[in-house]
Amino acid sequence: MTILKEDSPKSFLEIERAGSVYRPVEERLADWHEVEQRLDRETIHRQTARCINCGIPYCHGSGCPFGNRIPDFNRAVRTGDLRLAWDILSETSPFPEFTSRICPALCEASCSAGPEFGAVTIRQIEKTIVETAFERGWVEPDAPRRIGRRVAVIGSGPAGLAAAQSLNRRGYTVTVFEKEKRPGGLLRYGIPEFKLEKRVIDRRLHLMRESGIEFVCSTRVGIDVSPDYLLRKNDALVVATGTPTPRDLDIPGRGLKGIHFALELLGGQNRYLGGEIAAPPVSAKGKRVVIIGGGDTGSDCLGTALRQGALSVLQIEIMPKPPVDRSPSTPWPQWPYMLRTSSSHLEGGDRRWSLLSKRFLGGEKSGAVEGIEVYPVQWSFDDRGKPLRFVPKNDDPEIISCDLVLLALGFLKPDPQALESEFRLQGRENVFYCGDAATGPSLVVRAAAGGLDAAEKLDSFFRSGK
Ligand SMILES: Cc1cc2nc3c(=O)[nH]c(=O)nc-3n(C[C@H](O)[C@H](O)[C@H](O)COP(=O)(O)OP(=O)(O)OC[C@H]3O[C@@H](n4cnc5c(N)ncnc54)[C@H](O)[C@@H]3O)c2cc1C
Repeated sequence: MTILKEDSPKSFLEIERAGSVYRPVEERLADWHEVEQRLDRETIHRQTARCINCGIPYCHGSGCPFGNRIPDFNRAVRTGDLRLAWDILSETSPFPEFTSRICPALCEASCSAGPEFGAVTIRQIEKTIVETAFERGWVEPDAPRRIGRRVAVIGSGPAGLAAAQSLNRRGYTVTVFEKEKRPGGLLRYGIPEFKLEKRVIDRRLHLMRESGIEFVCSTRVGIDVSPDYLLRKNDALVVATGTPTPRDLDIPGRGLKGIHFALELLGGQNRYLGGEIAAPPVSAKGKRVVIIGGGDTGSDCLGTALRQGALSVLQIEIMPKPPVDRSPSTPWPQWPYMLRTSSSHLEGGDRRWSLLSKRFLGGEKSGAVEGIEVYPVQWSFDDRGKPLRFVPKNDDPEIISCDLVLLALGFLKPDPQALESEFRLQGRENVFYCGDAATGPSLVVRAAAGGLDAAEKLDSFFRSGK
């Protein structure tokens, strides 16, 4: 092979990182399609040369929860062997088509080139590999040899799907139970269409069904079917029920109309776009929207509210504004604490930090929210810049006027014992918990890795003769 200039060990110095490319703001606000564009083949080819196959690839070792062999697939793309790249990627990653769209890319945060020169654009390389694989027909249904054991999976988010796919490949006969109308969990009913089009989930589900996995939807385990019954009909259970309880903000005025949890907006909009309901149950159209919570769910609310036609959108946060660059409290290769600006933030709306919400104000007659009373707070930091605690800056309240409040404050970690007793599964050795249900709210990549891990444990359990 010709050694190109880009193949020198200094490529990461000579070629600039290509970041995300989004469709123009005006165009994307007028539809719900994915905002991020695929980088062209030539760009991806050049970008792979920036990977220098470093001695300790943190991207693979500590960054990626799947342990994706990133330097290896980068090299395969570089040499033009996309088939080999697909074989390497699909060996460890169950759903690269999801993660290449919505993963925050822990791998890139731990890339050796990252701190000084900009990380290799691993997520986009992954997207090129997986989409090429689908285009060229390399992603085929599995045809496992059955081993005569049955497993029921409760929940069809990334954790349940990953466990189901892995177990099916190992020969188990798998049935997935889902309380919603369609499988996918938060991939379908949380993450907006403009980040992950639902056709991408359906494409994978089609393959999974063709591979022999059965999906039983609109069925809530514990209500419509008992876990005990499932255990009698199956050899084992996988519980992947996610984190259903959003964190609330119990301050005066919480009962006013027009205050909703983020998922009421996001899930409702996705159900509407999916043709499940006639209109979104919560709409920001013509409203002054305040989102409480400065994280990713809040940013998803922002993009959704803008597309619905909000008059204005403000996202507020009690935490201080993070530093623009990596904080010393999270040195490389850790996931950096720093300011994050999503594609939605680039579309409009405002953000404010260090604001404590004390009270919702509403019209006595209408019973609807009209404002939020907030107070500025002063944060203190440890010597590495980690926020420690806050005190009110002054006693002067500020009233932020609004007609719609969205609470995006995260989700509560399920209590494992409560989950066991809800399903009456105490002390059962053949029940395996995974995903957000086991860890608390996390990421698609971690939930799916948890699903793979549960499948591995379940398989070892039976292999050990139990
Ligand atoms: C708005 C939002 C945006 C997000 N964006 C991103 C992102 O961009 N990138 C990222 O990496 N992560 C993101 N996350 C986090 C990510 O979606 C979750 O970490 C991940 O989906 C958890 O997967 P899971 O399979 O454990 O649970 P879930 O995806 O929550 O799936 C659990 C499933 O179990 C079903 N279920 C629950 N109880 C029962 C029952 N009794 N019977 C039958 N079915 C049941 C539920 O209906 C659900 O379908 C986001 C989260 C939210 C809320």
